[in-house]
This record gives sequence, structure tokens and C-alpha cells, in this order.
Amino acid sequence: MLKKKLLALFVSAMMVLSLAGCTTPQNAQAKTQTQAVQVNQKTQVAQAKPVQTQSKPVTKPAAKPAATPATTGKLVISFIDVGQGDSILVQAPSGKTMLVDAGVPEMGSRVVSYIRSRNVKKIDVLVATHPHNDHIGGMPDVINSLGIGSVYMPKASTNTYSFEKLLTTIKHKGLTVKTAKAGVVLDLGSGITAKMLAPNSTYYDDLNNYSAVIKITYGKTSFLLTGDAEVQSEQEMLKAGYDLKADVLKIGHHGSAYSTSLAFLNAVKPKYAVISVGKNNDYGHPAQVTMNRLKYYKIPVYRTDENGTIVATSDSKTITFNVKPGDYTPGNKSGSTNTSSSKPSTSTVQSLPYGYYGEPGKVYVDSSGRGLIKGNINSKGEKIYHIPGDPWYDRTKAERWFKTEAEAQAAGFRPPKK
Ligand SMILES: [Zn+2]
Repeated sequence: MLKKKLLALFVSAMMVLSLAGCTTPQNAQAKTQTQAVQVNQKTQVAQAKPVQTQSKPVTKPAAKPAATPATTGKLVISFIDVGQGDSILVQAPSGKTMLVDAGVPEMGSRVVSYIRSRNVKKIDVLVATHPHNDHIGGMPDVINSLGIGSVYMPKASTNTYSFEKLLTTIKHKGLTVKTAKAGVVLDLGSGITAKMLAPNSTYYDDLNNYSAVIKITYGKTSFLLTGDAEVQSEQEMLKAGYDLKADVLKIGHHGSAYSTSLAFLNAVKPKYAVISVGKNNDYGHPAQVTMNRLKYYKIPVYRTDENGTIVATSDSKTITFNVKPGDYTPGNKSGSTNTSSSKPSTSTVQSLPYGYYGEPGKVYVDSSGRGLIKGNINSKGEKIYHIPGDPWYDRTKAERWFKTEAEAQAAGFRPPKK
């Protein structure tokens, strides 16, 4: 009886997946061939429920996987579909577990149910990347329902109900909070390393930049989980000289235009991108500019609004996904829900720091087809390019001319800092 039900769920989930899939198997194959990593569709998990908007409380737990794949010797990372928000379950080869964020409060029970469906009873490392509702809201449910080892949070506070409730829940359970900051090493057992690369400063204007950024390395494979870190934090990570290169990049801030700067993307050089984002969210996530960049670099994108829960499995050499990549369609702003505490997209892309926000493939040429982007090597030997209209453009001597930002970056030039 139960088996039948699960089977039916699985079949319908497969149908949803095949309907929602935006690439044909051939396309997917062609894509993955260039990445030299295979997408294994056999491990599909029946988690793909239509994405729920965040305003609706979730009473029903998420569908359980029809079969829990064995994790022995494998690193399994689940990007749980929590609508607009983040929640990422990491199951290390050692059996240790980490949960990074838990979505909005209404998603708490879904997150707990998903974790249990993976036969996990204890979260060894719980990370609240930053104190925004769409990341910590569901955390009290997780803390109250499961065993918890260490809790990490950045030294940032806010006066929201979600934040107060999280602190109370942590206290009631007798847990203490360790500070999430760059350099912290997380214990996920042998054979795997997990290290925080951000936050690098003690104060930020924007809570998003307090986001704990975690790099997980297992054998030859690596994952970079960025929370809602924005360009300021990205610049700090670049400046600190960390090895940012990762096979899978959890795109920052739900694909917002304020994250995933070109310089950062070029340093990470991901083979795959994952975006945790709700369908028809109020913020227009993921942003057009972010999707343009990912498309330009032909990075397959897995997104929870199209794929549901995304499960990436590493055997230390190869990473496989339970679903096919989604498409590069940006979010629209027609959504009617608004419970996330992320920054509303009222500012325009024009107000962002220039340079980082040009589209890599955008062509700057004069009427004779000559490139207009100036490549300058300054007195320190730094190779910096300037696009027409930036404050230094007219004062800059061009050693090289480029037609696109991508061309300039390929030649080793970077955008100006500010
Ligand atoms: Zn967020």
C-alpha cells in the first residue's frame, strides 16, 4: 500500500521532471560532454514537487525519496527545494552531516522531513549563513526535531522574530554558537575538507555580506556554498587569495544581480551552477545579468524553481546530479508573495558598481568595428580594463583594446575595483 503510494509519487515526479526539463537528453549529453562529467539520471529522487510559494504554510511534508541512495564512500549534497530561500544538506562519506540554512519558517517541517527521508537523525554541523528569514526561519524546527552537534553563525544580529526565535531555540536545547568566519575549519570526518572562506570582515552594511561561505573538497571534486554573499564579500575572498575554484557553485543570493560578479565567477570557474530560488518570487531572482553570465560561459544551471530538490553526488572523482539542468530564463517580478527578507529589487543594475556588472559578451565597438574597452597596465603592473563611461575611462591610456569584457578577462585584465 505504502509502496504503491511511493511508486505513484515517484512516477508523477518523474513526469513533472520530464515536463519541466528544458533540455532534451541529447542536449544534456552534449552539455555534459564538454564538462567531462556525467549526469546520472538513474539516481533521480522523487522530491520534485511543484514549487510552493513562500507565503503558503506548508503542512504536508515533502515527498520522500522512493529509495535512499547509499552514501558509503560518497559525498551527497541536497539543495532542498524550499521555495525562495536556501537549505542545503551535506552528507559526508564518513556519515557526518551538515545543514546549511533551513528556508523560511513555513519550510521547517519540509526540511526536517527531507533530512529524515535521507536516514539522517543528527546534524553534526548546523550553519546559519546569515540571519535572514529565508535562511534561518526553518531552523527552530530542525533544532527541535533532530540531534544537533555544533552551531555556526556569523557575528551579526537583527531584531526579527525569526532571529529571536532561533536564539531562544538554541538556548533551550543547551547549544552554544560558534562564530562563522573565514578560516574556520568544519569537521565532516576523514577524507573531506570543509572550510569557511567568508565572512572576512567584522562589519558590513548589508546582512547578506555576513554570509558564511563554505568550500567543500572531496577528492578531485569541490563545492562552493555562498549563502547570500554579495560582490563586497566576493571581492574580499578574491583579495584574500583563497583557492576559490570549485566544480559546483551554489550561486549567491538566489541569483541576484548583486552577487556572482564576473571576477568571482572567473575565479571559481564552476562546471555547474545551482540556484536556490522560488518560482515567481518578488525579487525577480534569478537576475537577467546573472543568467546571461552563466549562459555566456555555458555553465549548466540547476535551479530549485525548475528542478525541485537537486541532489549532487560525488564519488571523489565525478559529480552526478539527480536531475537535468534547467534553463537560463531569469525570474520575473510578477510574483505576489513577499516574506523573504532579501533585498527587494528596487535598485537598478545601473546603480551597481560598474565593471563587474557589464555583460561578458556585450560588444563595445566604434563605427569601424574597433574595440572600445581600454586595457591598461598601471604602475603596479596590474592589468585593468575600463568600459566606456566608467569614471577613469577618459583618463586611461589604452595599451590594449578589447571588444568585450570576456575578451579583456581572457587576456588577464580585470575590472577596476571602485
Ligand atoms: Zn536569501
